[in-house]
Amino acid sequence: MDLDYYEILEVDRNASFEEIKRAYRKLALKYHPDRNPGDREAEERFKMINEAYQVLSDEKKRAVYDRYGKAGLENQGFRGFDKSSYDDIMDFFEQVFGSAFREGFEGRRRKERRYPLDLTVEVEITFQEALFGTKKEIEYNYKVPCQSCRGTGAKDGVLQTCPECHGGGQIYYRQGFMTFSQTCPVCNGQGEVAQERCPQCYGYGYTTERETITIEIPEGVDSDDRIRVSGKGNRAPSGERGDLYIDIYVREDDHFVRHGDDIYMEVPVFFTQAALGERITIPTPRGERELELKVGTGDKEQFRFKGEGFTNVRTGRRGDLIVQVRVVYPKKLTEEQRELLKKLEESFGIESRPYTDKFSSLFQKIKGWFSK
Ligand SMILES: [Zn+2]
Ligand SMILES: [Zn+2]
Repeated sequence: MDLDYYEILEVDRNASFEEIKRAYRKLALKYHPDRNPGDREAEERFKMINEAYQVLSDEKKRAVYDRYGKAGLENQGFRGFDKSSYDDIMDFFEQVFGSAFREGFEGRRRKERRYPLDLTVEVEITFQEALFGTKKEIEYNYKVPCQSCRGTGAKDGVLQTCPECHGGGQIYYRQGFMTFSQTCPVCNGQGEVAQERCPQCYGYGYTTERETITIEIPEGVDSDDRIRVSGKGNRAPSGERGDLYIDIYVREDDHFVRHGDDIYMEVPVFFTQAALGERITIPTPRGERELELKVGTGDKEQFRFKGEGFTNVRTGRRGDLIVQVRVVYPKKLTEEQRELLKKLEESFGIESRPYTDKFSSLFQKIKGWFSK
């Protein structure tokens, strides 16, 4: 059925903009889906009213429509509202009515949304999984509108006009010359309350369902990264589903420490190895690597393996692996070991007392301070 836009808004063909706006307002409020829950006809009317107003409130569109009808508008790319996009219509509606009406109607819209549609779950992965990426099976609960009350929270979906605010969603009170309003506490601004609580969902309007999905976690993710899986969140009464957000938490590793895209690891080296120099094999996150210790490798000396770190999720560039030496000394010596070390020390002569050179002048200086 293709009604004329003027007929839909019940106005004269030469109605002024003000008249059209007034008519739209009256009808849009009357046929608003939240005031007519479950009424398909009212919903259809509401859509047509919004479409008609979208055209007739726009001088250019109205002129095209007056001369060529709907076909003329379609030639210009105007297609009215997508039948499925309830939100577009509601956004338009709120845009027209402005902030004064927004509060009351957002309250009403909340009835449509008793819970947020997006959902977040946390997934814990190991250091290794973060480094190489992984597939994870995730089991989680999401909300669906209660079938037995159609998401209203009321037994059999039966709602009655709120006795407190008489359906307005706001209560008003006067103080001197001023009138104040506040969201009705009985119905939370929805204008309607359940006659009886739905026994299936205890009045919450939703139940939960369990779902298992497999997600691909890319290499390089870090704690606090989020992965969005669209259409896997909570289900709205309209049937649409929100998005699922996966918050990544990477467990700490005993041996490797992440810093940005770099990985740090510590390699304990015995003091003789450090002194003599040696080529050793070390286990790095990406496999075994050769580490060349030169003669006299120092404690905390670092070796960088380029491109052996994490792959940056955004840039795709690889960080480095930084290997830090920790020189380990024996805590106890046998008599024999002591002898050997003493002998070794003696063979170095003055070189085994590196501080003497440096400090001799300093000793002189300090003596000078006290000799006066
Ligand atoms: Zn229910
Ligand atoms: Zn109320």
